[in-house]
Amino acid sequence: MAAKFVSKRNLQFLLYEVFDVLSLTRYPYYQQHNKKSFDLILDACLKMAKKLLFPILEEMDRKPPELENGRVKVHPAVRTIMEQFGEGGWIAAKFEERFDGEQLPYMIGDCCQFVFAAANYSGVTFPGLTAKAARLITSFGNQAQIDTYVPPMLGGQWQGTMALTEPQAGSSLADITTTAVPLEGDTYQIRGQKIFISAGDHDGVDNVVHLMLAKIEGAPAGVRGISLFIVPQKRPDGQGGLVPNDIIVSQIYHKMGYKGSPITELSIGEKNDCRGYLVGEPHKGLAYMFQMMNSARLGVGAGAAAIATAAYYAALEYAQARPQGRPLTERDPAAPQVPIIAHADVRRMLLFQRSFVEGAHALLMQCCRYADEEIVLEGDAGERAALLLDLLTPVAKSYPSETSIPSTSLAIQCLGGYGYCDDFPVEQYFRDTRIHPIHEGTTGVQGMDLLGRKVRMQNGKAFDLFVEEVQGAIVEGEAIETVAPFAGTLKGILEELVEVTDTLKTRAVEEGIAVYLSDATLYLEYFSLVAVAWQWLRQITAAARGLQGKPSKSDLNFYNGKFFSGRYFFHYELPKTKGLVARLLDTDTVTLDMDPAFFQD
Ligand SMILES: Cc1cc2nc3c(=O)[nH]c(=O)nc-3n(C[C@H](O)[C@H](O)[C@H](O)COP(=O)(O)OP(=O)(O)OC[C@H]3O[C@@H](n4cnc5c(N)ncnc54)[C@H](O)[C@@H]3O)c2cc1C
Repeated sequence: MAAKFVSKRNLQFLLYEVFDVLSLTRYPYYQQHNKKSFDLILDACLKMAKKLLFPILEEMDRKPPELENGRVKVHPAVRTIMEQFGEGGWIAAKFEERFDGEQLPYMIGDCCQFVFAAANYSGVTFPGLTAKAARLITSFGNQAQIDTYVPPMLGGQWQGTMALTEPQAGSSLADITTTAVPLEGDTYQIRGQKIFISAGDHDGVDNVVHLMLAKIEGAPAGVRGISLFIVPQKRPDGQGGLVPNDIIVSQIYHKMGYKGSPITELSIGEKNDCRGYLVGEPHKGLAYMFQMMNSARLGVGAGAAAIATAAYYAALEYAQARPQGRPLTERDPAAPQVPIIAHADVRRMLLFQRSFVEGAHALLMQCCRYADEEIVLEGDAGERAALLLDLLTPVAKSYPSETSIPSTSLAIQCLGGYGYCDDFPVEQYFRDTRIHPIHEGTTGVQGMDLLGRKVRMQNGKAFDLFVEEVQGAIVEGEAIETVAPFAGTLKGILEELVEVTDTLKTRAVEEGIAVYLSDATLYLEYFSLVAVAWQWLRQITAAARGLQGKPSKSDLNFYNGKFFSGRYFFHYELPKTKGLVARLLDTDTVTLDMDPAFFQD
């Protein structure tokens, strides 16, 4: 087992030197925090990740959950995880003080989530989902619902889920058929089937609270008829107890990766005795659920980057220790072998991984910064942050998800044959991360969201704000001699992004939406490379400032490492925009024209 799965120094760099998390403590909402408390929280999180989560990473993979007598049996440590995350305040960390939360900034809270996910992604899905589900109830539920469900969820005794998907309704949630028949007040009788529901049942908690989408009888067709319900596995009996709520786990699926976390198929209300409680107003369910989905999308992006981070450190450790071959310039066959990290191609593989994981993590931190600004800033400034977060969410979900696959694959490659065997954790990381482009909206869905909606919303306002943000970083970079060449490169690339986006928008008007969106996934990839180059420019600028001070020897290495990783991104990854631009401006429409019949034989 590798010794390291995350870099504390990099977390501190992002928090304090790039994103200036301390500046948030000027605002009343975050004023109870300071550097000392942030450092203590980070230390506690690293300790918990190392002691509780990391040691059972492999075991949770090898002993996946089983369905036994209608109950999902998970690894016994899941109960401990939920208890410790509840008692330690980790589930409630970002919640307001009135909910017994710590009111932690997103930047700190999500950094901790990143550490937990790097240590053991399966393990952290249980409390992570619960926090997001509880947040949905505090945002849109009534006081009685908050009082009944939120304390045991934040305390780690009850699991929260998001129950959306049905056999015929995955990407297209408009087609759900789970029904809700009004009984009295906010109580409805629920009936239907849900599939793939993460943590839909398990013996690590005393109850499971589904945040479920269903259609009230007679509701309008499509997404306008979807409502949100709290559907507990055991419902309150009105006398302080709980009774079964007619939800059956009909199967658990056998997954390729993150096997410690079960996904379930649920049969709901087969005996006509399942009660659900309407959250907020009828027919607004999907709009409410988007809060949880957007937060989960960022969580998925962070999970992908975190898993790839752990894989990178495992590959690095191996590359430093594994002797193999000699330098190309060494002619003496009796000369000792060198560690494989001495070979340029191995360094290329390590640099790909590092430039990806640190670039992606910075992009996620940028999103957290906007989430924090949305809370503390008022008026136009708050709206600006909200728009930027909205624009970047599909990017921050998809780029890490997609790129974590080649990244963890290269971690395997660094280990050669051992990488392909389960003696080392990298094959598990590769399997664990493969889910991310699929759940919480596939990459295809995210591409259409970015190009079809986000880039055009409010007459392109969010996109213009993004361009302004990148231009700001370019101006800062241009002022530092060693950074100026990177800033100059990004300036040209950004101008090209504006031109390409305008051209595509014109095509949407001239040739219609089907042509416009046919390559939305490629546009997403293109936009992502620009966004991550922006984050590398910000990191290189901060590293240059660090080098201007009097860095210690280890900081000198760290800042130089940043420079070289950023340099790799600008010289190896960013040029990929050229091919994407060529395709996006190419007017050939083969993917639209090819008849499905032509795929036969
Ligand atoms: C491990 C795991 C955990 C999950 N956890 C949960 C959970 O907790 N709660 C929950 O509700 N669901 C969950 N899901 C379900 C998940 O969100 C869906 O699998 C996902 O939304 C995709 O839906 P689908 O599987 O039906 O695929 P489909 O929607 O059938 O998509 C298949 C392919 O077709 C493409 N496609 C579909 N429609 C279009 C279109 N209109 N235009 C272009 N391309 C299209 C997709 O991009 C994809 O590549 C989970 C799934 C897995 C595997």
